[in-house]
Amino acid sequence: MCSRRVVVIGAGTAGLSAALSLVARGLDVTVVERAACPGGKMREAVLGDRRIDCGPTVFTMRWVFDELFDAMGEYLDDHIVLCPLGILARHAWTDGSRLDLFSDEERTADAIGDFAGRSDAEGFKAFSADAKRIFDVLRRPFICATAPSMTSLLRNAGFRDLMAIRPFQTLWKALGEYFSDPRLQQLFGRYATYCGSSPFDAPATLMLVAHVESSGVWLVDGGMYRLASAMSGIAARRGVQFRYDIDVSNIIVESGRATGVQLSNGERIEAGSVVVTADVAALAQGLLGFGAARTAAAIPDKARSLSAMTWSCVAPASGFPLLRHTVFFSRDYRNEFDSIVGRRQMPSEPTVYVCAQDRNGSPATDNSPERLFILANAPAIGDRHRFEPAEIDQCAKRTFGMLERCGLTIAMTPELTEITTPTDFNRMFPGTGGALYGRSSHGWLASFQRPGARTKVPGLYLAGGSAHPGPGVPMAALSGRMAAASLIEDLALAAPSRKTATRGGMSTR
Ligand SMILES: Cc1cc2nc3c(=O)[nH]c(=O)nc-3n(C[C@H](O)[C@H](O)[C@H](O)COP(=O)(O)OP(=O)(O)OC[C@H]3O[C@@H](n4cnc5c(N)ncnc54)[C@H](O)[C@@H]3O)c2cc1C
Repeated sequence: MCSRRVVVIGAGTAGLSAALSLVARGLDVTVVERAACPGGKMREAVLGDRRIDCGPTVFTMRWVFDELFDAMGEYLDDHIVLCPLGILARHAWTDGSRLDLFSDEERTADAIGDFAGRSDAEGFKAFSADAKRIFDVLRRPFICATAPSMTSLLRNAGFRDLMAIRPFQTLWKALGEYFSDPRLQQLFGRYATYCGSSPFDAPATLMLVAHVESSGVWLVDGGMYRLASAMSGIAARRGVQFRYDIDVSNIIVESGRATGVQLSNGERIEAGSVVVTADVAALAQGLLGFGAARTAAAIPDKARSLSAMTWSCVAPASGFPLLRHTVFFSRDYRNEFDSIVGRRQMPSEPTVYVCAQDRNGSPATDNSPERLFILANAPAIGDRHRFEPAEIDQCAKRTFGMLERCGLTIAMTPELTEITTPTDFNRMFPGTGGALYGRSSHGWLASFQRPGARTKVPGLYLAGGSAHPGPGVPMAALSGRMAAASLIEDLALAAPSRKTATRGGMSTR
């Protein structure tokens, strides 16, 4: 067995980040990916002659990628073109009201003042300050720490700061203290869904997502997928081997240690270490072999994060001035989440996110077909419920009916539309039921229940959106780096001591 050979399972953001970090330290890395290309959830579809992002569309925390590329001796800006957004997102309600959030907080406060009155504008300023504090408190001891625990947090952050992150209050309740207008509670509560969670169950700590977004949202020229291409391109040039279109069916564990993987064609790849970026639910269910199953706790159905119904299309959109990111809010947010999270059904009226990928800040001026990605949250039931055409049609009626109530008409055609249901997401990401963000962040303990990089099996490491520090493109990239750092540290510790290797002295170098 070659201790310097590492197999990374998955070529999503976390796998690519881990592979880059490992190859930069001279390790021999093979990435095995069941899909035909890199990116994982960061994927694109081809509709006619157009490419469209149909995974993540909101790019934040660019510093994570600046650091990752820096560590490779590369500049992120040499590989992708990033353009900061002045208007972060437009928000609309069925009563015709609209609110834009800006990268400039003063402008947002003014807009909120016009929308809901002075007191809510002041509430927004207090909310922003508190959201920033939560992020600052958690950045080092939690988000960027390899395996944080309640004790390590207490030690590093202190009791007062820890209480400031408001772990015991729900996000929804906390928002009621800043905003009297229920539309603002809804707007800022939606940030819980970035972690696949309900604002009614997630802790107020998730206010930090609002801070992340207000710190900068960038457009990636050519689409988010360019990021995955850039990362895999650099990795390949540095010698990482990519094996696409094949599953890892078993992580080989011998004498209690991970020693390689077996592929679905029976081939074995021996390795000193294995990094898994598949969802931890797959690991826990034994989909990667029973030797490794004990390294992850099962995620009960009710703890699964949200899934989604998505429509990627090229179609004319009229009647509403869409921006790059526009959110259309349902009339009864609580009922929407009671349906999805409580009853595990599609809601009768969903909140709908539309990403207009040909609009770079301003509305389009004509009515020509454009690239649109449309998403409604859905329950993660894709492993036991098949979304049949009639049900998909009903979801479409509810989703597009909701958009029409806000004035937007999208003239989709079947030839230029790709639909993804929780069943499809479960097929693409086995073991998840279609949950897109690992375990939901419901309750104050949830964040500590995401596994860290090291596991009980020596040589086996975890990364990805279902591991610490959680979902989202930058977080998954951080987790890949953390898994690589832990692996490298363990290898260094396991290396034969130079003291014993040095004859006639105590030199360690
Ligand atoms: C529709 C959608 C919208 C989103 N929007 C945003 C957004 O706007 N902004 C944001 O920051 N985040 C967003 N996210 C979340 C973000 O995309 C993910 O958190 C992140 O991409 C996860 O990366 P990952 O590497 O952890 O996992 P993945 O991307 O899932 O990668 C894991 C890889 O492992 C592979 N794999 C699994 N099992 C095996 C096996 N047995 N053998 C070989 N390969 C295997 C899978 O095929 C996959 O490619 C969104 C996600 C979705 C789906």
